[in-house]
Amino acid sequence: MAKFNNNGSCSFCGRSAKEVGMLISGINGAICDECIQQAYEIVKEEAATGKKNFQMDRQELPRPGDIKTFLDQYVIGQDAAKRYLSVAVYNHYKRLLQKASADDVEIEKSNIIMVGATGTGKTLLARTIAKLLKVPFAIVDATVLTEAGYVGEDVESILTRLLQAADYDVEAAQRGIVFIDEIDKIARKGDNPSLTRDVSGEGVQQGLLKLLEGSIVNVPPQGGRKHPEQKLIPVDTKNILFICGGAFDGIEKKIAQRLNTRVVGYIAGKVAERVDRSNFLQYITPADLKSFGLIPEIIGRLPVLTYLEPLDRQALRSILTEPKNSIIKQYVKLFEMDGIRLSFEEGVYEYIVDQALAFKLGARGLRSIVEAIMIDAMYSLPSEKKKAFKVSLDYAKEKLERQENNHLRIA
Ligand code: ADP
Repeated sequence: MAKFNNNGSCSFCGRSAKEVGMLISGINGAICDECIQQAYEIVKEEAATGKKNFQMDRQELPRPGDIKTFLDQYVIGQDAAKRYLSVAVYNHYKRLLQKASADDVEIEKSNIIMVGATGTGKTLLARTIAKLLKVPFAIVDATVLTEAGYVGEDVESILTRLLQAADYDVEAAQRGIVFIDEIDKIARKGDNPSLTRDVSGEGVQQGLLKLLEGSIVNVPPQGGRKHPEQKLIPVDTKNILFICGGAFDGIEKKIAQRLNTRVVGYIAGKVAERVDRSNFLQYITPADLKSFGLIPEIIGRLPVLTYLEPLDRQALRSILTEPKNSIIKQYVKLFEMDGIRLSFEEGVYEYIVDQALAFKLGARGLRSIVEAIMIDAMYSLPSEKKKAFKVSLDYAKEKLERQENNHLRIA
């Protein structure tokens, strides 16, 4: 670029050098200071709207390491699942950004299946990913799905939820994430194709297939059953990421059996020592899902298989206070809004964890226990003039025991 030029005129507005504050000349023309200002505004505006239309550009896309770091803020432990999810999600969005290329290499969808006991963080992981990516997110429960024509919901209703989450913006929904919970509940009963009708099992799996593999699906905007007069919304599922979760109760036994047979079969001794018997899920393979009753076509459409660890005492203790929106932080905030500083005596957290372990509900137990302890205080303190409230161990025990007795009496 040449320096200031007092001869000639601006190639954009035509004004002469005398009429403008400054004129900058290039090889074949010149531009005045005002036109530079205007051009700059246009560029800025374009950049902003461009981003809106094309929500994730390559530069913005978080790398797998960034995704995991984000998950770490909300989800305790579950490293294996976090790594798998981070890579799968990263690849999924790379795939969306892929321009039609000459080499014909088409990246396939990487739908995910997570296996792990209830309350170990499957839903939380999926929800947190959606939060990071700012895409529409819907949770659906596979237990309500039945084969078309039977009492229950058609599989298309899954997409209704996503459309609702996207405020019926079809474009946005088509890039969203769906979490299908309790996928194990639509497993075929037994490994052999059954002769009797299995309306909430294999039939539903067949129905799900077309959503998972990517096709245009006609979706009833209000969900429920499709009926002839209803106007349907076509939704392309090609770029929707499906994350499935399930507890697969009893699958550990199948994994153990498989491992044992192998060990006894030909590599007896050595491998047996290395098998970590405290958590068989870490050895899960697609074959185990098949023997649980998922049809091979579905398994094929869920190529990323990962597991969640059972939550031990240490994990439960961390979950209580460490995540960005941990249960305890939520209660502290609730009280803060009434001008009350809430704190807990040494030992209360341990007590809550002990009770949660006894309930065997994973982290789900934590919330109901804390709720039971806090309910009376939440009822009465807002009308008192207190500025602080400390929960003692005795107070916690008394409240929880009373709740439990009440439940017993009602039951
Ligand atoms: P799942 O889907 O595996 O049954 P959720 O993700 O719904 O379990 O977990 C239930 C609740 O327990 C969550 O809302 C969260 O508060 C808590 N929770 C479960 N696992 C974890 C975890 N690993 N880290 C932090 N919180 C967790």
